[in-house]
Amino acid sequence: MTLNAEWAARWLVAAGDVCDRDRAYLSELDRLIGDGDHGENLARGFGAVRGQLLSSPGGETPAELFRTAAHTLISTVGGASGPLYGTALMRAADALQGHSELDAQGVVDLLGAAVDGISSRGGAEAGDKTMLDSWLAAQAEARAVQAAGGSVEEVIEAAARGAAAGAESTEPMIAKRGRASYLGERSRGHRDPGAASSALLLEAAAAAVRS
Ligand code: ADP
Ligand code: MG
Ligand code: MG
Repeated sequence: MTLNAEWAARWLVAAGDVCDRDRAYLSELDRLIGDGDHGENLARGFGAVRGQLLSSPGGETPAELFRTAAHTLISTVGGASGPLYGTALMRAADALQGHSELDAQGVVDLLGAAVDGISSRGGAEAGDKTMLDSWLAAQAEARAVQAAGGSVEEVIEAAARGAAAGAESTEPMIAKRGRASYLGERSRGHRDPGAASSALLLEAAAAAVRS
């Protein structure tokens, strides 16, 4: 089994649904250590991505769909997360260019590209209490399963599991990037909103394989 453009479209549509469903939760996390708009930002951005896909589902490859979604996120999300997710998807599109399907290695490549995009765009490092911590954990878990000969389904499940653990791991961290960093020590004890949304988005990616 491989992951094709239909999977990518199901994922991006589901991302819009997840951001609607968990909008209040994500904004509440952001209210505690930021400015309280993360859920709104993502519901607007991924809602626009979903709307575009449902009205004109064009795109022959995952790369094309990711590139279009990246442009939409960058132009519709006002907050820091828009350009960060946009850059992640843009880099993923570059990495997958010319491939109509992703195998287990393709999923690892997608995650690596997203990590590179987020870190080069935002300058964060591991442990800075940002969305990068979720993507790094997703990448590590996915790589391990892929190296052990895991299937594409197993690798994407591993990514979702890793991202969830990565999001949880941000709770004791002190924020070094983004708005939460203004709180310094007081950011400790709260889950980073972007790390939480990243875990939800990767869970949606795995769910789109099962559906
Ligand atoms: P804003 O902070 O502009 O209101 P959002 O609330 O939508 O934007 O997104 C906040 C999230 O963005 C944070 O929880 C964090 O995960 C992520 N973030 C912010 N700055 C950076 C950065 N420099 N590198 C990586 N992630 C970042
Ligand atoms: Mg915010
Ligand atoms: Mg904001």
